[in-house]
Amino acid sequence: MSHRLAIHGGVPVRKSMLPYGCQSVDESDIQVVAEVLRSDWLTTGPKVLEFEQAFADLVGQSYAVSVSSGTAALHAAMYALGITSGDEVIVPAMTFVATANCVVYQGGTPIFCDVEPDTLLLDPDKLESKITSRSKAILVMDYAGHPCDYDTIRAIADRHGLALVADACHSLGGSYKGISVGSLADLNVFSFHPVKAITTGEGGMITTDNEALADELRIFRNHGVTSDHRQRADKGSFFYEMAELGFNYRLTDFQSALGLSQLYKLPEFVVRRQEIAVLYDVALSDTPAIFPLTVRSEVSHAYHLYVVQLDLSAISMNRAQLFAALRAENIGANVHYIPVYWHPYYRHLGYQKGICPIAETAYQQILSLPIYPRMSDRDVETAVRSVGKVISYYAHAKRL
Ligand SMILES: *Cc1c(COP(=O)(O)O)cnc(C)c1O
Repeated sequence: MSHRLAIHGGVPVRKSMLPYGCQSVDESDIQVVAEVLRSDWLTTGPKVLEFEQAFADLVGQSYAVSVSSGTAALHAAMYALGITSGDEVIVPAMTFVATANCVVYQGGTPIFCDVEPDTLLLDPDKLESKITSRSKAILVMDYAGHPCDYDTIRAIADRHGLALVADACHSLGGSYKGISVGSLADLNVFSFHPVKAITTGEGGMITTDNEALADELRIFRNHGVTSDHRQRADKGSFFYEMAELGFNYRLTDFQSALGLSQLYKLPEFVVRRQEIAVLYDVALSDTPAIFPLTVRSEVSHAYHLYVVQLDLSAISMNRAQLFAALRAENIGANVHYIPVYWHPYYRHLGYQKGICPIAETAYQQILSLPIYPRMSDRDVETAVRSVGKVISYYAHAKRL
């Protein structure tokens, strides 16, 4: 095997690109979608209710409301809580932009809180200093699939009378102190994008135990109208009222059939992700300069992402070089995330660099390695071998 890096013209470790994430859709999924396409209901029919009920049962909440994406789910959550202009919502700096955008959709102000250096989760010690008289909610995100420290964050939320929302788009299938993700916050938000734990193509869900919030979510996803098409058909009535301004954020029946079929496989998907993480942990333990994120003992990690931090002082390369070198070896590494307020849109709103230094430093040092259920042990091995090949080249270059 060639030790010459692929980026320098050597033979790549892999012949084909290994993506960082990928859906697992099989014939049984395709079958149920085809059945719905042959039925009377393409949208807002029996499969939507079935998927919502199964999802609520799985996470242990009374209500699950489906929507058209994780972003729509975040928007609906902010709406249901009544977030409006002048309100502040505290969000982590290290997250996908949608976590903060949903606050802006409602005219509110996202307040960025820094993260813990070892888990990159919102740091509860930094939270209280962000709370003001305008604060309405804390919106945490279970980065990489590791549930946040909900007991500590809940205590702070309660002390200040704030709602707690979980962006659980990474952590479906995980748990905290034996309690399922999905029942850890007042509103819990999920995405069914293809790289997430289960997929409906595009899709999302919000779970809650609060009936009034569930009603608001349902109205919001349906134009602000207080009954849906199916309820009117059942009653034989044309009458509907639009009481509030909502959106069309509905999930279709055929997507719901796919979601239901995927939901049954969630346990095996999560187990496989956890197995892959163990393979990485073991194999990378003696790779210099590479450190997986910390996993706390009270959680079951759902491993949406497998994130490592680089000790760049040990090697004469930066993250961009490692990223490019791995891509050349056909390892689809990725970076999650650029601190949200570094994006031009937020810079234009007036957010300054420097407000969350831990997240900013971490951003320069993190790399997401491929992880998804259909990855084989051999795929993992090629990713590990590629990391080792590139790191040892640059570690050697540093010694010269
Ligand atoms: C994927 C994701 C979203 C958005 O979900 P979409 O379904 O793509 O709209 C929001 N927050 C986080 C943390 C995500 O990973």
